[in-house]
Amino acid sequence: MRLRDVVILGGGLAGLTAALKLKHLNLEVLDAASWIGGRTRSQRLPGGPWLNFGAQYITEDRPAVVELADSLGVELIHSEMFEDYYKLLLPEDAPTRAEVEAGIRRIEEAQSQPRPVTLPELDDVSFADWLGPMSEAAADYFDRITLLMNCASTIDLSVVGGLWVWGDQRTSPWNTDEIPHHDRGELVVAGGTSELAGALAASIGGRVSLRTRVTSVTENAEGYLVRAVGPDGERTLHARRVVCALPGPIAAQVFPDLPGWKLEALRAVRYGRWISTPIVITPAGRTAPPYPLTASRPLVRYNADGFLARTPGDFDNEGGTYHSFMADAAARVVWNDPDESIKSGALRMFLKEHPEYADRIERVELHRWELGHPQYVRGLMKHFALLAEPVGGITFAGDYTWQANMEGAVRSGERAAQQVLSK
Ligand SMILES: Cc1cc2nc3c(=O)[nH]c(=O)nc-3n(C[C@H](O)[C@H](O)[C@H](O)COP(=O)(O)OP(=O)(O)OC[C@H]3O[C@@H](n4cnc5c(N)ncnc54)[C@H](O)[C@@H]3O)c2cc1C
Repeated sequence: MRLRDVVILGGGLAGLTAALKLKHLNLEVLDAASWIGGRTRSQRLPGGPWLNFGAQYITEDRPAVVELADSLGVELIHSEMFEDYYKLLLPEDAPTRAEVEAGIRRIEEAQSQPRPVTLPELDDVSFADWLGPMSEAAADYFDRITLLMNCASTIDLSVVGGLWVWGDQRTSPWNTDEIPHHDRGELVVAGGTSELAGALAASIGGRVSLRTRVTSVTENAEGYLVRAVGPDGERTLHARRVVCALPGPIAAQVFPDLPGWKLEALRAVRYGRWISTPIVITPAGRTAPPYPLTASRPLVRYNADGFLARTPGDFDNEGGTYHSFMADAAARVVWNDPDESIKSGALRMFLKEHPEYADRIERVELHRWELGHPQYVRGLMKHFALLAEPVGGITFAGDYTWQANMEGAVRSGERAAQQVLSK
């Protein structure tokens, strides 16, 4: 059994960024999935476009992701599809729109007054209650936006959470001038988001073991015993230090010896489910056979965003992918439905909006994300500062310890590596 300086649990952006910063050490990254990059999973299609199953957009509030991509030579392309999503989805009828705009003004005013996020009136009250009574159509608008931005309905979110995910930046609930940003507009990763994780893995010399599920981590005389099940059966690794970049609830399961305050904090992190159903369109003139639709559920929102998220470029010349997502509320309803039914539901909604593509559907893919998005739920802020607190030789990374997006994952990985190096 070899003694590693560091074993990193989780090969998402957080774990891989930590690995990059620690690459001079004897390290290994373990990940349960069969692909690299966790929730940035994407796929390149032969000779065609790419499709993303998870993360898509690098908005201006994500400078650390841009810096990382630049340092690795990963190409980022300008994209304007998702900008102003919350204005694009505004209801059209005048009374609902007026109601919604009044709500948005109130949100923006609250965002301009920074306060401690642990105040009970911010942390313990649901965003829906704070928004107050309104028409069903207006309430639906706010619910839809918060589901899209944090996979959490206005009922799940605290007031802090609602303010955090609303608007042009999702770095903080407060809209102050100090929000770090880059000035290249909205970007996507050329070739698919997991190109970034692939470049990270290459930069650490491929020291990533996929299909390797960590089952427990316990202390011993020299550091930690990491037990895992890999493609060749059980493995035990010996490490001086551990970086845990697993989702919060899984971290709570694999470290049985953590102190109560840490377990409580990790268990307070709740995730919303996502189902992604990317829809690939052929170039114009190359028709595809009719897609074999099966039954899907009436009245279910198989798409969260009106198909805003698509690959940049000219669909008529090159084809492309529309990234369709079901947010938590709808994903829970269809979770156990057959894949074909979910794909059909997404495609029916798509064709209603884009009938021009009826004979150009090349394929529809599907990914169920059970731990899709860490939500800013009521009561989380009490524990928030403790999520990233190291315990002995274990440091913690992951978007749930910083902010719920790629920027949070990258920055948390950098911080965890710094904590390792400073001891
Ligand atoms: C549908 C969707 C759309 C999104 N859109 C955007 C977007 O447009 N922009 C944006 O910035 N962010 C977006 N995000 C969020 C972004 O993907 C995440 O914030 C980020 O990728 C999280 O990285 P992470 O390393 O913290 O976690 P993860 O990527 O979840 O990494 C955790 C890793 O741990 C592994 N793991 C789990 N259990 C075990 C175990 N027992 N043993 C070993 N390994 C284990 C998992 O396989 C995973 O690879 C989106 C997410 C989803 C799901």
